[in-house]
Amino acid sequence: MPFSQMAVPNKEQKIQIEMYLKKNQLIVTRFRAAKRYASIPKVTLLLLTVIFSQACQNSSEENTLQEQTKEHPNISKLRSQSAEFTPEIIQLNKNVYVAVGFDGSNASMVIGEQGVVIIDALRALGAAEKVAEEFQKITDKPVKALIYTHSHQDHSGGTAAFVGDSQGVKIIARAGFKDELQERSPVEPILKQRNARQFGRNLPAEEVINRGVAPGTTPTDRVGEGYIEPNTTFEDSMLVTLAGLDFELHAANGETNDQLFVWIPALETLFTGDNYYKSFPNLYAIRGSQYRDVKSWGESVQKMSTLPVEYLVPGHTRPLSGKALVHRRLKNYATAILSVYQQTIDAMNQGYTLQQTVDSVRLADSLRNQPNLQEFYGSVPWGVRSIFLHYVGWFDGNPTNLYPLSGSQEAKHIVELAGGEQKMFDQLNDALKEEHYQWGLRLADYLLQTDYEKTKVIEVKVKLLRALAAQQINAPARNYYLSYANELERNSE
Ligand SMILES: [Zn+2]
Repeated sequence: MPFSQMAVPNKEQKIQIEMYLKKNQLIVTRFRAAKRYASIPKVTLLLLTVIFSQACQNSSEENTLQEQTKEHPNISKLRSQSAEFTPEIIQLNKNVYVAVGFDGSNASMVIGEQGVVIIDALRALGAAEKVAEEFQKITDKPVKALIYTHSHQDHSGGTAAFVGDSQGVKIIARAGFKDELQERSPVEPILKQRNARQFGRNLPAEEVINRGVAPGTTPTDRVGEGYIEPNTTFEDSMLVTLAGLDFELHAANGETNDQLFVWIPALETLFTGDNYYKSFPNLYAIRGSQYRDVKSWGESVQKMSTLPVEYLVPGHTRPLSGKALVHRRLKNYATAILSVYQQTIDAMNQGYTLQQTVDSVRLADSLRNQPNLQEFYGSVPWGVRSIFLHYVGWFDGNPTNLYPLSGSQEAKHIVELAGGEQKMFDQLNDALKEEHYQWGLRLADYLLQTDYEKTKVIEVKVKLLRALAAQQINAPARNYYLSYANELERNSE
């Protein structure tokens, strides 16, 4: 159905209407999405829909809308996830405010009798300054402490905006903070390149949807320049009174080995760091990450699920409230992680190879269908591969793989089997036509190791990558496919 004929806009259209209105300064807002639409009569929404539709005529936005009408359901789902990053200061309860969507992650303010405590500090100093300004409009109490849930730069780059010169401010983190950052890696150049692909940093705006648990683009104003080192650290847990409130900080290995969670019993509020957000967890990052301790990650979330949490603040995506709901979400998250872990271990002990293990592990439907376990960011098979390699390294147990043929030798044999290079190229085109995209990529890679015309093969490979991106729910995978396709195209010009 054409956009302009729809009586009531769907969620995606609401976001677009909102973007249009904001762009044209028809509304200046900072209030909750749910209330926002409840307060607009349906007739007005229809009118706005029509205005929006007309305003977009002959523009690239219209093209995008037309594409959306035939887009894959996975892409629509991924688009709807973007509502998680609408910039907003959310008041969660009397004492807690969460800044969502100002940068890639969340920063929070907890107000106590004697001052405020900040939890996580965003990535760009410029974004952190904006949030600090918003927080100061709410209270002028002094910042007594800042807690880092972990060392990733998207949570620690903007500290100075909140604490100034940090004199007298406790900056709290776990012992071992920042030990595993990639800037110290000998393979930093390739990590950087892969990072750019995973996050779609060089993609044109029209190809970007989001980053799974973060907006498609994030501020670049003085990235990391506000970082301040912790001056207070602890090993397992720390019970501390900050700004007049009692805080519990617990070590919780998971996404990183310096992860912690913050529990404030009097406020029934939990800050999970990146061990929880609204997506299947990123048990392995395709930008290239060290092993993330999957078992500990599951157990950390399990531990959180035993607390009587009324308010949950994730490291990314919007906060949640309601004891029963929060409990359910934490519980299914822990179950999903531990299930992937245990299934992988069991398959390995059966003597399964890496690929057989990947093929055998699957989340139960009751978990797979949960809204907080959609694979927007993490992906089950990537987690399985990571666990497998962690325990046994590269050799998968099959002696065929002890001394495999070189890539070009194997390609030569396979091409011969296919009846020669031209026949293989025909098969490659058939694979594209018949929508066997993954198989097509394999054929293209064989051909690229022969003397066959590279430009022609690359042209098809680019189409295959874009076709896969057009049906991928996982944002890092989608961004990677598209970035790689663009690079291939540029390099073959
Ligand atoms: Zn993060």
